[in-house]
Amino acid sequence: MTGEQRDAAYALCEAGRTLFAHGLTPGTSGNLSVRFDGGYLMSPTNATLAALVPERLSVLDARGEHVGGDAPTKERELHLALYAARGDARAIVHVHSAHAVALSCLRDVDPDDVLEPLTPYALMRVGRLVLAPYARPGSAALAAAVASVAERSGAILLANHGPLFAGSSLPAALAAVIEIEEAAKVQLLLRGCDVRPLSAAQIRELRDAVSPAPRNRV
Ligand code: ZN
Repeated sequence: MTGEQRDAAYALCEAGRTLFAHGLTPGTSGNLSVRFDGGYLMSPTNATLAALVPERLSVLDARGEHVGGDAPTKERELHLALYAARGDARAIVHVHSAHAVALSCLRDVDPDDVLEPLTPYALMRVGRLVLAPYARPGSAALAAAVASVAERSGAILLANHGPLFAGSSLPAALAAVIEIEEAAKVQLLLRGCDVRPLSAAQIRELRDAVSPAPRNRV
């Protein structure tokens, strides 16, 4: 490993512990990856994200072939499809956090932006959360479903499954999936309530004030 890859490996393991500490990755669910010049590091299959070890992370070459470490996550194809669709992405985080999963099972969400404009934080850290059609976890169909919506945003909610975020850095992707879960929780708490959403002018002000990755803009 180069120095850059070693730093990325430690950061990826730390991110796994952070996700686990937030309760976003029950059991062995969830996976994450980073892209560097010439390849990828991914969490291994059946790994508990709280116990990732740098030496055992899966190393993939630029074509996505497994060249070192443990066997990669079963969602390798999904990660590779999302990197291919979003050339600016350097890190991907995918979790099965309960409130976001619950939101992914509702019929009446807007597939072009599942999160309602309720608080500034989701708008600033996540941008538009688009819904990808359901397909079996680990299947080529799921990778294709993600690719079909990735042009619109790097923030994706897999129907009846969970959220996925492709960010310009690992900290940005980490912050986004944590924010998706909190925003989903708030949205579910408010179901059936007389809600005062952010106004169009307030949303515009937020868009102007923050500059997330250009293609993640709301
Ligand atoms: Zn999953």
